[in-house]
Amino acid sequence: MRTQVGIVGAGPAGLLLSHLLHIAGIRSVVLEIQSRHYVEQRIRAGVLEQGTVDLLVNCGVGARLEKEGLVHRGIELRFGGRAHRIDLSALTGGRAITVYAQQEVVKDLIQARLAAGGQVLFEVADVSVHGFAGGAPLVRFRSQGVTEELACDFIAGCDGYHGVCRQAMPAGALTLHEKDYPFGWLGILSESPPPSHELIYAHHERGFALFSMRTPSLSRLYFQCAPGENPAAWSDARIWSELRTRLGNGTTLQEGPILQKGVTGMRSFVAEPMQCGRLFLAGDAAHIVPPTGAKGLNLAVADVRTLAKALAACYADGRTDLLDRYSETCLRRVWKVQRFSWWMTSMLHRLPDEGPLRQRLQLAELDYLAGSRAASTALAENYVGLPFDD
Ligand SMILES: Cc1cc2nc3c(=O)[nH]c(=O)nc-3n(C[C@H](O)[C@H](O)[C@H](O)COP(=O)(O)OP(=O)(O)OC[C@H]3O[C@@H](n4cnc5c(N)ncnc54)[C@H](O)[C@@H]3O)c2cc1C
Repeated sequence: MRTQVGIVGAGPAGLLLSHLLHIAGIRSVVLEIQSRHYVEQRIRAGVLEQGTVDLLVNCGVGARLEKEGLVHRGIELRFGGRAHRIDLSALTGGRAITVYAQQEVVKDLIQARLAAGGQVLFEVADVSVHGFAGGAPLVRFRSQGVTEELACDFIAGCDGYHGVCRQAMPAGALTLHEKDYPFGWLGILSESPPPSHELIYAHHERGFALFSMRTPSLSRLYFQCAPGENPAAWSDARIWSELRTRLGNGTTLQEGPILQKGVTGMRSFVAEPMQCGRLFLAGDAAHIVPPTGAKGLNLAVADVRTLAKALAACYADGRTDLLDRYSETCLRRVWKVQRFSWWMTSMLHRLPDEGPLRQRLQLAELDYLAGSRAASTALAENYVGLPFDD
C-alpha cells in the first residue's frame, strides 16, 4: 500500500487531519485499532472553543454541530456560598463556546471521510512505524489477519497518550514533562436536565465539582475524587448526594438514570519536540492537559490544523519551513493551554493534604476573579480559546 500521509489513530486529531488533507488534495490512510462503533461511542470531551467550531464549520463538517450544538456565552463559578457568572462573550468581543460531544465530532468526521472515499481502516493490530528518520517512512500493521505495509511520505502520530508513535521515537529524541495530580474526577452521564443552562464550576470544601451537559436532557456531571477511586464503590444514591452537596446554593439537581460512570485521572504531560524526522505527533500523543479547562480536544484540533497547513505548503510549493516549525508553532499554544489548565485545576481543587491556608487563598483568588474585569477577561479569553498562533 502507498499513500502520501499515513495517519495512526482515528480520534479527533487523526480524522480531522485526514479530512483537512483531503481538502488540500493530499491522500492519506487512517489506521485505527478500535472498531468504528467503539470510537463513535467513546464518551470524552464536549466543550468546543470558538476556533474549533469555526474550523469544523468552514471545512464542511459542521452541519450537525451548528444544528445540535449548544452555544454558551457564559460559565458560572460557585465558591464560598456565592455564585458568579463570567460573561464569556461580553469579555471576548462576542466569542463563545459550544457544547457538542466529542463522539459526535468523531461521527461527523468519519462520515465525511467515508463519503469522500477516504480510507479509514478500523480494527487493525500490531501497528508499528519505521523509516521516519530517513526518507522512507513505513507503517506496518495487521488487518484481518494479514500483515500489511503502508509506505508514505510522512507519518502523523495521532494515536493518543498510550499510542505507539511517540514510543517509537529514539531514546533521547524527546524531553518529557509530566505531572500526575493527587486527585481524579468521577464523571457520570445522566438522562436528566442539567441544573443550569450554562456550565457550573464549583469550589467546595469537599472538593471540586463540574455541572455540565451534552444536550438539554443529558447531563455530564463530575466531582473530584481520589485518583484510583473505584467507581463501583459509588452507588447512584451516593453520587447524587455528593453532587447535591457540592452544587450547594439551594439549586435543585434533577436526578435521572445514570448511563455511564467512570473515573478519569488528572495529568499534565508534554513531549517535546513534537516531531522526529518525518514523524509528527499531534493531540494526546504529544500532550495531556487536566480536563478542568476543557482543552484536550481543542488542542488536538489546533495541532492538526497547523500540520495540515504545513503539509499543504510542502506538497503545493515544496516549502518545508512550516513543517520544520511545526513543533515550535504547536508548543507555543500547548504551553499556554497547559498553564491555563493547571491554573484552573489549582484554583478549584482540594489537595488531600492542604490546610485551611490554601483554601483561603483559593477563595481569595476566586473573589478577585469575580471582582476584576481584567482577571475575568484573562479567564474568558483562555476559555473560549486563544487565537491560532499562525
Ligand atoms: C477518559 C477520558 C475523558 C476525557 N474527558 C475530557 C473532557 O471531559 N474534556 C476535555 O476537554 N477533554 C477530555 N478528554 C481529553 C480529550 O478527549 C482528548 O484530548 C482527545 O480525545 C484528544 O484527541 P486525539 O485524537 O489526540 O486522541 P484520542 O481521542 O485518544 O485518539 C487516539 C486514537 O488512536 C487510537 N490508537 C491508539 N493506539 C493506536 C495504535 N497503536 N494504532 C492505531 N490506533 C491507535 C485510539 O484507539 C484512538 O482512537 C478526556 C480523555 C479521556 C481519555
